[in-house]
Amino acid sequence: MIEKQFVVFLSYLPHPIFPFIGSSEYSIMKMLYSNENMFLVNNVKNIIESNDISTFIKNEFAQGAIGEVSAIDSWPELWVHDDTDFEQAVEILERSQKNIKGEDWACKNCSETNDPSFEICWNCQKVHT
Ligand SMILES: [Zn+2]
Repeated sequence: MIEKQFVVFLSYLPHPIFPFIGSSEYSIMKMLYSNENMFLVNNVKNIIESNDISTFIKNEFAQGAIGEVSAIDSWPELWVHDDTDFEQAVEILERSQKNIKGEDWACKNCSETNDPSFEICWNCQKVHT
């Protein structure tokens, strides 16, 4: 009797909203999130780990190496240790990103009103503090 085996190669297409979600280099550990801002990567790590999912950050200390490697390669990356946690981690991440609430903020520099999702003033490019 011949047993048929199917080997399925899953390719994770870039997420339409968060292009770094789901991109995958390895089949076991998967990269969940990447951002040039280490604070945001750490923030996501805290959210995911509060749901008992083990993660680690790659390129955590690569920030000083920009210039030797291309900038995008040195962005901190958040990886999920266990492949079986990955789907859940993506869900948690998406939920957390949707739940970003806020109110319009007034620029301290030019007094223009900005959308809560803006980190810099649309008018004068001053960083929201
Ligand atoms: Zn402004």
